[in-house]
Amino acid sequence: TYNFNAGPAALPLEVIRQVQNDLIDINGIGLSILEISHRSEEYELIHYETQQLIRDLLDIPSDYEVLFFQGGASTQFAMVPMNFLTREYMASYVYSGTWSGKAIKEAEKIGEVAIVASSENEQFKRLPDLDEMNIHPGSAYVHVTSNETAAGVQYQNLPNTGNIPLICDMSSDILSRPFDVSKFGLIYAGAQKNLGPAGVTVVIVHRVLLDRIQGNIPDMMNYRIHAKSNSLYNTPPVFSVYVVNLVLKWIANNGGTRGMAERNRLKADLVYETIDRSGGFYKGLAHRDSRSIMNVTFSLLNEELERCLLHELRLNGFIGLEGHRDVGHLRASIYNSVTYNQCKVLTDFLTEFQRRYG
Ligand code: PLP
Repeated sequence: TYNFNAGPAALPLEVIRQVQNDLIDINGIGLSILEISHRSEEYELIHYETQQLIRDLLDIPSDYEVLFFQGGASTQFAMVPMNFLTREYMASYVYSGTWSGKAIKEAEKIGEVAIVASSENEQFKRLPDLDEMNIHPGSAYVHVTSNETAAGVQYQNLPNTGNIPLICDMSSDILSRPFDVSKFGLIYAGAQKNLGPAGVTVVIVHRVLLDRIQGNIPDMMNYRIHAKSNSLYNTPPVFSVYVVNLVLKWIANNGGTRGMAERNRLKADLVYETIDRSGGFYKGLAHRDSRSIMNVTFSLLNEELERCLLHELRLNGFIGLEGHRDVGHLRASIYNSVTYNQCKVLTDFLTEFQRRYG
C-alpha cells in the first residue's frame, strides 16, 4: 500500500517494526509501554530522551521548554489565547486557510482578534504577504500557520516580529526542514503527520512567555503548570510519546532536519514537475510561489475524471489522495516518512493515467 494520507499519516516501516517488538517487551522489562507507570524510571527515561531529541534536532535554545499535551493541535487553538490573550491586549492572526481559520474562531471566543493578513479572497491558493502585515503594537502575539494542510500552501520564511511574540501552528511541517526556533515565542504541532501517532501535541515555548500567563485558567490548560512539572503533571500520552521517540531517532539517523529537507524537496519537485509537464491535464491548486512541499493539491479537467482517478488509485493500492473536504479535488501528502520511490510510483501512475485518458 502506498500511503499518501494527510494525517494520521505514514510512519517509517522500521518504526512500526520496532513498536511491534516492544509491545511484547520494552527494554527487557517484561512489559509493554502500555502497561507501565508514567512515574516509572523506564517511562521517564523515554519521556526526557524524547524532549532532548526534539531539542537536538531543532537546535532549540536553552531558554525554551519542550512540552507534551493531549487534545491535538485544536486544543492549542484555544490554549494559546486562554494563556496570552488578556483584556488589555488584542491578538493578531494571519488568515491563510482552513486551519488558521479554526484558530481564529477559537481566539475570538476569548478576546479581541485582528486579522492582519488574509488570502480569503484568493480562496487561500496564495499565502498572504507577511511583509504587508499591519501588526497592532498592542498585540499579545502574532499567530501564523506555517503549512496549511488543506490548501497545500506553505511559508518558506516567517518574519521576525520583534517584541511581539510569533506563535506558529507547525502541525503539518515541523521537522521537515531546519528553521530558527529563536524567532518564535511558541510553536505547536500535533504529532500525527511528521512526528508519530495522534495523541500527543508538542509545544515549544520561550520561558519569557510563561511569566506572562495571567488569570485563573484551569491547570490542564495552563502552559506554566505543565512546564513546572516537565509535562508530567498528569498522565501523559505515554504510547504516543514513545512512538515519537522512535520517529525522532529515525529522523536523526537519516540526516536530521537537513536530510529531511533535501529528500522532501526532491519528492515535491518530482510530483509538481509531473503536474506541470502534463500540459494542463493536471493542475496544481496552489500558486507556484506558495506551494507546499508537504501537501501537493491538484485537480483534473472535471469531477468525473477525478472520481475515476481516485477509484483507480484505490484499486492499485494508493490511499489517502482525496482532497480535504473544504477544498475537494486531490491531495498527495508527502511527509517525512514517504519515500522518493513511493512518490515515483505515484507519478508514474499519474503519467500512465494521463496517457489513457488525456
Ligand atoms: N493545524 C493544522 C495545520 C492541521 O493540519 C491540523 C490537522 O490536520 C490541525 C491543526 C488540527 O489538528 P488536530 O486534529 O490534532 O487537532
